[in-house]
Amino acid sequence: MAMSRLDEVGERDGWRCWVCDEAVDPEMSVNDGRGPSIDSLATRPKKKARSPDGGPEERLAHRDCNTRKGAVAAIVPWPDRLFVVEPAPIIATVERLQRKGGREVVARCPTLVDGQEAAIWLVDRISRLRPGLAVTADVEPGGGQFLLVLRA
Ligand SMILES: [Zn+2]
Repeated sequence: MAMSRLDEVGERDGWRCWVCDEAVDPEMSVNDGRGPSIDSLATRPKKKARSPDGGPEERLAHRDCNTRKGAVAAIVPWPDRLFVVEPAPIIATVERLQRKGGREVVARCPTLVDGQEAAIWLVDRISRLRPGLAVTADVEPGGGQFLLVLRA
């Protein structure tokens, strides 16, 4: 029997929701809010065929996380356990870096260790959010705090 499109996307994304980064149960009903669904990124402006890195246009999401459901753009949350001040919106930052490359300050952290923890989390998160995009995160002193700097 051929795999369904949902199974294909689910397998490829490791049954993990691209928005909230939590596991999606392939056995759960697609009508359940926590059940699996395909999020089509075609809702984003000027993204027709594929993203610039040739990455997937369809992603696995929980039904409730699926961006097609509402007018509001998806928000990838920063975890509460990290100490980040004025963190940048992750998806918008990643899209800019993907288009233009370069360097962006994405947050300020009170201590070097806070910055390092946030840097590790962010690079790992982006590796699943946009698998084709290679990024590095560095922590640089600035203004009496530490700046979390993302480069692509
Ligand atoms: Zn989710």
